[in-house]
Amino acid sequence: MADRDGPRLDPFEQTPEKDLMGRIGRLWTERGVLETPYMFPVVNPLTQPISPRELRERFGLGAIMVNAHILKKNFGDAVVDKGVHRFLDYDGIIATDSGAYQILVYGGIDSAPDEIVRFQESIGSDIGVILDIPTPYGANREEAERGVLETHRRAEEAFGIISDENMLWIGPIQGGTHLDLLASSALKMSSLPFHILALGSPTQILKQYRYDLLSKMIATVRSIIPPSKPLHLFGAGHPSMFSLAVALGCDLFDSASYALFAREGRYMTEYGTMRLEELKYFPCSCSACSEYEPSEVLKCDKGFIERFLAEHNLNACIEELRRIKQAISDGSLWELLGQRARAHPALFRAFAGMSSYSDLLERHSPSTKDGGIFYFDRLDIWRPEIQRYWKRFLERYSIPEGVDELIVYSGSDPIKRLGEEKIRRTRFFKLINPYGFVPWELLESFPLFQTEGSGTIEEVPEEAISVFREFLKRNRGVRISSLRISGRPLQRLKDICEELGIPLEINVDLGPGGRTGARTGSAKHI
Ligand SMILES: [Zn+2]
Repeated sequence: MADRDGPRLDPFEQTPEKDLMGRIGRLWTERGVLETPYMFPVVNPLTQPISPRELRERFGLGAIMVNAHILKKNFGDAVVDKGVHRFLDYDGIIATDSGAYQILVYGGIDSAPDEIVRFQESIGSDIGVILDIPTPYGANREEAERGVLETHRRAEEAFGIISDENMLWIGPIQGGTHLDLLASSALKMSSLPFHILALGSPTQILKQYRYDLLSKMIATVRSIIPPSKPLHLFGAGHPSMFSLAVALGCDLFDSASYALFAREGRYMTEYGTMRLEELKYFPCSCSACSEYEPSEVLKCDKGFIERFLAEHNLNACIEELRRIKQAISDGSLWELLGQRARAHPALFRAFAGMSSYSDLLERHSPSTKDGGIFYFDRLDIWRPEIQRYWKRFLERYSIPEGVDELIVYSGSDPIKRLGEEKIRRTRFFKLINPYGFVPWELLESFPLFQTEGSGTIEEVPEEAISVFREFLKRNRGVRISSLRISGRPLQRLKDICEELGIPLEINVDLGPGGRTGARTGSAKHI
């Protein structure tokens, strides 16, 4: 095993470019550095539509994954003799999967866990996976727990076998949708010297579009494993879901979907999947799609169509991951996620569930951004910038001594119309969507000033009103005057003042140099 005190134990380097729980990272391997997020295209040496050499030279893919079980079963010593790089004619990074997925599909494979570890070393793989026990979707707790414990046993055993210091090892975390088991597996696997941790067995969940469950699983694991460990998501390879997985903290993916979908005549886009025969026009201008019309491709033989679709599907995955990296870099991953969520109800459901992870997202997201943020609708209140603003407002902002009145207003700023003495005893809160009643002195700070919102102040979310209510509860002994507030926000303000016993004066008329309007006294009289 590699020197456990040396840098090889942590070959993953996080760059300062982060957004939500996504980050741009670098994975150092013996054969070079891999920038993440990255999807290893899975290569099947028996039925590969695009050769590994082409993947590197034409598609610029510096790392691939191949199934060690398939190599061992079909080619055995030939791969050991040549080494996997020469055997596949690929000089980039090669990751080998152990064949655990075959257990899930075929109910067992004929190699022992230690044999698979030794085989991966003997063929010169750069990144290996131990032979774990995937948790099938729908497994009962007992069955899931047995698999988890056996995976842990095999993981410990593997570190007694591993001898190649140059290889990186992936530790699969099991437990499936049993989140407590998943959490204990994440804890256990984090305690072992794996270089990369992986969320195992999501394939069936992905096939059934249960992105809501997948999100819970990723968030559970990511909240336990250290940020210094890259998280791999097995078997995920559709462009429409990468942004969700990256936003929750996945760094690596592997998939044969680009080729499997191609075989079934399916065309991937970042918005979903289409059948080739449904397309009159290609909504893509990748190298494959810019050369042909769909009708021309359809006239070709099966082999050509499969190859054409595999190329396009791969390009669609590569392009989406580039888009995600750019979004991380410019701080717009939430916006991208929101767009993708609206492409499919299952993704939307997962996006709507992001409220459950708002603390986690908030803890990991950068606290300032160069660019602005967009607010489209109520789901956007869960983005970390807005949550953080509310949290900090409640924690850090209080009404200074000597201030006995709050003026809440919309529209232009009324401060200039008040005398100096008045200003000293008053604090101003402007109603803005989506933040609610915001202290005047914070209006030009991040993220308030940088927010481009849709909707009117009438549509200010209830959560924003609740934050102000909480603020008033913590800051007693003031009266409130409102100016140009009407409709639902005014009604809510009345409710809160009545509940907390705060005197409220509505539509106060501020004459030059001071107040000329009449008081209506306590909210009870309004
Ligand atoms: Zn294309």
